[in-house]
Amino acid sequence: MPKQSAASAAGLPVVKVSPRGATRLKDGHVWVYRSDVAANAVPPGALVSVADERGKVLGTALYSNSSQIAIRMISRDVVPDLSSLLRERIQAAIAYRERVVRDTDAYRLVFSEADFLPGLIVDRYNDLLSLQVLTQAMDAEPVRQTIVSELNERLQPAAIAERVDPRVRELEQLPPRSSGLIHGEKNSTVFSMNGVKFQYDALQGQKTGAFLDQRENYAAAAQYARGEALDVFCYQGGFALHLAPRCSAVTGVDSSRPALEMAEQNAALNGREIEWIEGNAFDLLKDYATSGRQYDTIVLDPPAFAKGKRNLETALRGYKELNLRALKMLRPGGVLVTCSCSYHVSLADFLAMLASAANDAHRTLRVLEVRGQARDHPIMLNVPETGYLKAAIVNVNN
Ligand code: SAH
Repeated sequence: MPKQSAASAAGLPVVKVSPRGATRLKDGHVWVYRSDVAANAVPPGALVSVADERGKVLGTALYSNSSQIAIRMISRDVVPDLSSLLRERIQAAIAYRERVVRDTDAYRLVFSEADFLPGLIVDRYNDLLSLQVLTQAMDAEPVRQTIVSELNERLQPAAIAERVDPRVRELEQLPPRSSGLIHGEKNSTVFSMNGVKFQYDALQGQKTGAFLDQRENYAAAAQYARGEALDVFCYQGGFALHLAPRCSAVTGVDSSRPALEMAEQNAALNGREIEWIEGNAFDLLKDYATSGRQYDTIVLDPPAFAKGKRNLETALRGYKELNLRALKMLRPGGVLVTCSCSYHVSLADFLAMLASAANDAHRTLRVLEVRGQARDHPIMLNVPETGYLKAAIVNVNN
């Protein structure tokens, strides 16, 4: 039987993609860029049927008329009812976390493309949920209602907060919207991971509140930590608090005062004494290195330096400077935990940067572990953009 045409199959608008776009989809990717999509008059955020140039249906997608990513596939099949598909996908995302997440009541519940829900992020912090909408399609009112109703039915959270990224809304040409509670009234809670407690405020902090992608790396880093430790770019103390039980002294450094205030609350919550220093990490490491300070454990977890392919070289120079200084400050036998969350810096680039920093610092490194993001942030093998976090734990031999 010939394959049905998209229009007759689901009554959806059809978007034709170029041979390059079609090949991308056949290779298992889920995005098609605007340059590979034929001009059309599809409304923003529509559910569309995707076809190749000859009209063969390749699946169903969410359409954006402003993003460079025009097509985000949501299914390889015809989707008769978006609402039931969204509900099924949310249930599957919850079930996946039940299988792969341990020792925490805080984790990413829905990770966009990696949960076949492109443009939707949901994080759980104990009894609170934090939601981010990143595309026109996910912003549509009926879609929002379905998502919120399914999350409420399955998880009965005390509240759901929406965290708005104004830059994303601008790129997607969506009207401005403010962050706030979209269900319930509770906006703060305490969550725990690996036995460490954290204060959570749904309406403050960066991203959706905490860096959950580092959760498994915190536990790994703690295994090797000892002596005097320095957590650089400590934010609310994620690494520092995990290192504290193993170390004689821990210092955390960050440029954000609100982050450090939260870090101090977290330390108190866990009965730990940690020194927090507000400052620019580059300047501080330079001063410390010059004045001959020494540590046994150093963590480097900077923000993404490479925002695009274009500034990769500059980003790698930034990473190298930090790693070089940290390596010079480590005592023999010391441990460096070094991270990059820039997607554009590949693991190979990152390790090459570290090797070059080690050479310049005249240190010999042995790799203890090369790690990535926690398992609740799944990486789609055919969608490399879903993998971004790299963490190397190395021993400084001499
Ligand atoms: N390690 C943290 C996450 C770090 S995110 C965790 O596990 O939770 C990056 C942090 O770097 C942010 O807290 C940001 O405030 C801080 N930051 C950005 N630029 C900085 C700079 N130049 N010096 C010090 N901190 C900086």
